[in-house]
Amino acid sequence: MFEAKIQEYKDDLIKDLLGCVAINSVRGAAGPEAPFGPGPREALEYTLNLAESMGFRTCNLDNMIGYAEYGEGSEMIGILGHLDVVPLGGGWDHAPLGELCGDRIYGRGTLDDKGPMIGALYGLRAIKESGVSLKRRIRLIFGTNEENGDEDVDRYKETEELPVMGFTPDADYPVIFSEKGLACFRIECPLDSGVLAAADAGEAVNQVPALAKAKLRFADGTEKQLESRGKSAHASTPWEGENAIAKLMKQLADYQLPEDLMAFVDFFNTCAGSQTDGHDLGIGRDEGKFGAVTVNAGLLKGDERHIAVSFDCRYPYGMDFKEDFQKVEEKAASFGLHAKLERLEQPLYVPEESVLVRTLQRIYQEQTQTEAEPIAIGGGTYAKTMENIVAFGPIFPGQDNVIHQKNEYISIPNLLKNTRIMAQAMYELANA
Ligand SMILES: [Zn+2]
Repeated sequence: MFEAKIQEYKDDLIKDLLGCVAINSVRGAAGPEAPFGPGPREALEYTLNLAESMGFRTCNLDNMIGYAEYGEGSEMIGILGHLDVVPLGGGWDHAPLGELCGDRIYGRGTLDDKGPMIGALYGLRAIKESGVSLKRRIRLIFGTNEENGDEDVDRYKETEELPVMGFTPDADYPVIFSEKGLACFRIECPLDSGVLAAADAGEAVNQVPALAKAKLRFADGTEKQLESRGKSAHASTPWEGENAIAKLMKQLADYQLPEDLMAFVDFFNTCAGSQTDGHDLGIGRDEGKFGAVTVNAGLLKGDERHIAVSFDCRYPYGMDFKEDFQKVEEKAASFGLHAKLERLEQPLYVPEESVLVRTLQRIYQEQTQTEAEPIAIGGGTYAKTMENIVAFGPIFPGQDNVIHQKNEYISIPNLLKNTRIMAQAMYELANA
């Protein structure tokens, strides 16, 4: 019912999305009144100004997170998304800060998650300008720390009202009833032989690293530079990438290494180098409709005195990770290494028969004229941070997943389709 309005907004929507993508909102050093750096702050101000120009009430909470709201009523529906991005990375064939090419908008954040959130803003504008009545308020919540720890949502929860239900347009369609839990752990090894001069790979633990480097310095004074290249992907779908750390570790095994460094390389190649399902680490589990464990070696850091690798592990609902982690500790100990669990987030499960999941499933089916069942994913979204929120869009089944990769884009037809689906979903949830 909002299609005609959204079509009218098309040019403005594209222009405003490009404006938001032009702001490099990767996390930076904290500054005065910019807790996540200047980029995230600027993207938030830009978007709240845009919301205000459309006539919505807005609020900025310490430049960490903000919202735009429309309607009246004692209850509120929340649409939760983010304006921060992962690092631009290299290898782009288009401008990483925004380029219109044919019917595609390229740039970091076009799909994750600026495109969907600027789209949601235009969806809310369509609701407002259609003059339809709403029983509940609709609030678009714009976070700026989704890629780096959700401190923004913690700030929101300190003082702000929670939605009765809602969605986050930051994953896949049709609708996601379950998300795996997230565990980050580190395997480290102190070194005293001095052969390793440096080792470095990865930009974020939740990305499959595309480049890994190491420098060896032998007792006779010779030096050896090692480098391996892989293919980046999101850590929740590690099989779509090629891990550069795994390749580097295989190269390292060919050298005459001191015992301490060799133990680390052996551990990696034996327990983590050849698969991404966690079996060799002792944590391989499959929980049916909730999915199976995935493991990604995301970061490698080393110098003369130590070497450490950090893993991102996604585990399904039904698994007690803390208990299973003992097996990782035992494996590491058997190589003389130490395993440390650094972060643990529980899985999410909103039953398939709940009003929220059923309503979003029906809207998706009606808007796309396709049959669709709710799905489970490995990615952790904002849905985990508040009760009764599920991930809904923006990626359609079968669509290229370019999130966190070079040449990230959203097509204009998909941007408009997303905007239409979200407008309908906001409207129906507000009146459900
Ligand atoms: Zn995202």
